[in-house]
Amino acid sequence: MIPAEFEYHAPKSLNEALALLGQHGDDAKLLAGGHSLIPALKLRLSSFSHLIDIGRIGDLAYIKEDKGALAIGARATHFEVESSALLQQKSPLLAECAAHIGDVQVRNRGTLGGSLAHADPAADYPAAILALEAEIQTVSASGKRTIKAEDFFVDLLTTALQPGEILTEVRIAPLAAKTGGAYLKVAQPASGFAVVGVAAVVTLDAAGKCTKVRVGITGAAAKAWRAHGTEAVLSGKTPDDNTLAQAAAKATDGIETAGDIFASADYRAHLARVYAKRALAKAVERARKV
Ligand SMILES: Cc1cc2nc3c(=O)[nH]c(=O)nc-3n(C[C@H](O)[C@H](O)[C@H](O)COP(=O)(O)OP(=O)(O)OC[C@H]3O[C@@H](n4cnc5c(N)ncnc54)[C@H](O)[C@@H]3O)c2cc1C
Repeated sequence: MIPAEFEYHAPKSLNEALALLGQHGDDAKLLAGGHSLIPALKLRLSSFSHLIDIGRIGDLAYIKEDKGALAIGARATHFEVESSALLQQKSPLLAECAAHIGDVQVRNRGTLGGSLAHADPAADYPAAILALEAEIQTVSASGKRTIKAEDFFVDLLTTALQPGEILTEVRIAPLAAKTGGAYLKVAQPASGFAVVGVAAVVTLDAAGKCTKVRVGITGAAAKAWRAHGTEAVLSGKTPDDNTLAQAAAKATDGIETAGDIFASADYRAHLARVYAKRALAKAVERARKV
């Protein structure tokens, strides 16, 4: 399929990109890795008169330490996230999650910012971004903004980003002492997208009790969510098998799971609970080793 005709812009700076967004308004769309937008254009699910390619804006492609946080530019590709020595050392969960995305071609082109802005309900990153309590930074003509991960995913393919706003950076804290993380997923075999994906982060105290638990789940509903019920059950408890099972049973509390041709809503809910327990068990195992 061939997309509808559009004018291609390749700004070299954020200011130039913002000016183009201001100039063309609703007729314009940002283009990053193109691995969600281009298929949508080719299938004529959407069409825009102006594509603003942010792929040449050098200062959006980095992974670095900044003021005690780990800062990842929106243009960092999934492969760069997956293979970052800094992330592997200081917060391996995000790198582990990136390694689950699609295949090597998708990971070489797709970007962290593009994936988050697209907010596909079956995308992998949202689970990890929620479990890591990431902060998402944006810029627009009216200035800069920081959005908490939990406020970012609003609905199916809908985020808190406003028209004219560019996602610039994702910030996460390095994992604290005695903290382990894990991302586990049931992948749709053709695309690799998550039928269900669960990210868990667990911090233990000296006695082995959970002092902090964060669980993000993707793939099973219109948008990814934090499993607060699961987190609450484990908080202050020793994460033995029984307690993990009780906690995981709450993974879909308050969530309307969704079905499609790959898996029914009930099956996805079941998988979310099963994988919540497995991801938590793995995170606990890792927390005990550090
Ligand atoms: C075959 C295939 C398999 C895939 N498998 C998986 C998978 O297993 N797991 C998974 O999570 N994903 C998967 N994906 C999706 C992939 O991860 C995409 O790369 C990602 O969803 C979009 O990132 P992108 O950089 O390509 O963005 P684009 O396609 O360029 O853009 C996507 C959307 O985000 C907007 N956007 C892009 N950058 C910004 C920004 N900085 N600020 C504001 N808006 C922005 C665009 O305007 C557009 O609306 C797959 C894709 C394909 C084609």
